[in-house]
Amino acid sequence: LHARERLAAVGEMAAGIAHDFNNLLTPILGYVDLLLEQDGSLPEEVIRVLDIIREQGRRAARLIRQILDFSRRGPREKIPMDLVPFLKELVKFLRRTIPENIQIRLEIEPGEYGVEADPAGLEQIIMNLMVNARDAMPEGGEVRIRLYRTRFQEQEPRPFPGMPAGEWVVLEFGDTGVGISPEHLPRIFEPFFTTKRGKGTGLGLAQVYGIVKQHGGYIDVKSEVGKGTTFWIYLPPLSKKVEKRAMGRRAPGRALIRGHGEHILVVEDDEDVRVFLEAVLKGLGYEPEMARDGEEGLRILKRKGKEIRLILLDWVLPRVSGERFIQEARKQGFSGPIVVLTGYPVEEKVREQFRAMGVVAWVTKPIAPSELSQYVAQALRWVVHPH
Ligand code: ADP
Ligand code: MG
Repeated sequence: LHARERLAAVGEMAAGIAHDFNNLLTPILGYVDLLLEQDGSLPEEVIRVLDIIREQGRRAARLIRQILDFSRRGPREKIPMDLVPFLKELVKFLRRTIPENIQIRLEIEPGEYGVEADPAGLEQIIMNLMVNARDAMPEGGEVRIRLYRTRFQEQEPRPFPGMPAGEWVVLEFGDTGVGISPEHLPRIFEPFFTTKRGKGTGLGLAQVYGIVKQHGGYIDVKSEVGKGTTFWIYLPPLSKKVEKRAMGRRAPGRALIRGHGEHILVVEDDEDVRVFLEAVLKGLGYEPEMARDGEEGLRILKRKGKEIRLILLDWVLPRVSGERFIQEARKQGFSGPIVVLTGYPVEEKVREQFRAMGVVAWVTKPIAPSELSQYVAQALRWVVHPH
């Protein structure tokens, strides 16, 4: 109870700070982007420095996002969804992206696993737990993910004070790693608590905690040094009525839509984002062609134009801007769909400009794998641009 009150107080403070920082960052990143859009007129060195400012600024934006999630101020759009197909897809994806010396076992007890949740949030939870498990098992090991239901009677003790009696969906996530010492264990959900000197931000589990809370859930942990760590996430199940009505229609669990070897040209100058996009697209079964700027993108297009089915384009690029890139790409005869990645919500004026250029969708970064998979799948089904 004490730990929970402490976290709530820290959360209040963190939310205020995160908001202020968000407001500070918006113009900083906005002006850097403006400067970088003036292609050609800036000296090479200045562009290099601006790139660094932008990259660091984006990193800060990601941290702020995690803090906002921790303080439960990050927006969540919950839908009724079935955890079974969702987890199966996610585990398939993780198996392809984690080191080979780590095995993932998925065990699902027979039963119903409908919850009302934000798929991107749940994905973020699993990703953060997975990254921590990987860090805890440098020599390899096993991750066990289990799904089951449990029930607390009214008179029965529950794992948390104030936790309602009744049915709960439990997502268990265990590893066979180094474990957490008893003096660290009470602090792991605190923002900025990390034992990974210089390498960790201490925001992963804080974000997990906040997302679980936003779903009306609880999170428990047990750990033994040298043996491993297990987390239990309790989520309220969907009521039977909602379940019946909602599950069929919404096609739940389609969080990750897979591709079939389609070639996708990705033009993105931020190395972190580029590496991420490549891993996700490969994981989804696409054939990504990676370019670090517009010039490289146009070269690839010249060589493999016929094979490229879709272009994923960072809007603000050094040298050749996103806009110029699209004009050139159309001139070269590319008629397929284009999806633009931006750092900011897109204003109406820019939307019109996008539509006029055959941009079928625009996505605000940071982007979750499931969102990306959905945008890409939708865009690929789009009618080809008349150019
Ligand atoms: P970070 O990973 O950036 O350090 P987290 O909030 O994700 O921040 O985790 C906080 C701390 O909790 C970690 O530094 C580590 O000491 C501990 N921890 C979290 N998950 C595990 C795990 N699966 N095994 C061992 N230690 C863990
Ligand atoms: Mg972490």
